[in-house]
Amino acid sequence: MQIGEFQQLIDRMYSDKDRRRGAAKTFLWFAEEVGELASAIAKTDKKNKVGEFADVLAWLVTLANVEGVDLEQAIKKFTAGCPGCGEMVCRCDEKLTR
Ligand SMILES: [Mg+2]
Ligand SMILES: [Zn+2]
Repeated sequence: MQIGEFQQLIDRMYSDKDRRRGAAKTFLWFAEEVGELASAIAKTDKKNKVGEFADVLAWLVTLANVEGVDLEQAIKKFTAGCPGCGEMVCRCDEKLTR
């Protein structure tokens, strides 16, 4: 499945609720899931960890839907090379960030 297809799937499943909730409250759900992922990684619980990656991704996609961001377009920032150096294998100094 492509990222854009996943975004459409999440939109179909949840968009009515998501838009009523709004971006600020949706961001809190996203942040909570990031915390759950941190715990799952710390506990080395593999099954739980995989599920938490899915939750974080789904909530990030949900936020994009609420904010009207097309993720297929957004990831073009990376698909043509590193945004910092332009290379497909990054040659930036460690201090440079995404
Ligand atoms: Mg979770
Ligand atoms: Zn780079």
